[in-house]
Amino acid sequence: MPQFSGGNLSLAQTEVAGAGGPPTRRVVSDEEVVEVLQSALSRIRPPAYQVCREMNVGVCEWKFRAMKDRSLNAGAAPNGLIIVNRGIVEYAANEEEVALVIAHEIGHQAANHIATGQRNQAVGALVGAILLGAAGAAASYRSPNSTQITRSAVDAGANVGGAIGRISFSKEQEREADYLAAVILYRSNIDLDKARGFLVTMARASGRKETGMLDTHPAGPERIAGWDRAVAEIRASNGGLPQRA
Ligand SMILES: [Zn+2]
Repeated sequence: MPQFSGGNLSLAQTEVAGAGGPPTRRVVSDEEVVEVLQSALSRIRPPAYQVCREMNVGVCEWKFRAMKDRSLNAGAAPNGLIIVNRGIVEYAANEEEVALVIAHEIGHQAANHIATGQRNQAVGALVGAILLGAAGAAASYRSPNSTQITRSAVDAGANVGGAIGRISFSKEQEREADYLAAVILYRSNIDLDKARGFLVTMARASGRKETGMLDTHPAGPERIAGWDRAVAEIRASNGGLPQRA
């Protein structure tokens, strides 16, 4: 993973400091949450699958769950499960930002990060159990090729959000997931600078208690600087994957 310079970091720090305090949450309906998630997912899905195949180490069949939980969080769990809280959509300024979050969690799956953490396995078993118990009506979108995230899924996951807070990855894994996310967005022709806005939002949220994502993901100027470095490399290589250590 690329390193960034002190100059990159201080630029990002200045940007976050000038961005104007904590971000604001939008009011969105359940329908809009599902629509935005579905639309973002359908734009990145084929390139994401292609990246996963090229990596050839991870899980490339994903199941998506939209959660009622309003905290700014998302997670990747065993068996290809990807969880996105409605809080992500509430804080996102546009669909590109939501696509970044989904692509990041796909990155964890594609790089097989979940299998490397015992604790994550245990959490995943718990998440799976809760979902299976609650999500009878959501069976239709368990098909691996489906881009459907149904309304029933938004309703079913009310109690699962807390479990995401116990999924954790190393700093290096987080950087790799961001790198893969940037490759996926690049190959999906998604505006990387627009998507990047979510990292600024997360950095602005750093001071707030309710932001569960900040316990499980690196936030702040460091992550933005890492993202910028990755994007520069990816643009230069026209969307290529780096050699893996
Ligand atoms: Zn992550």
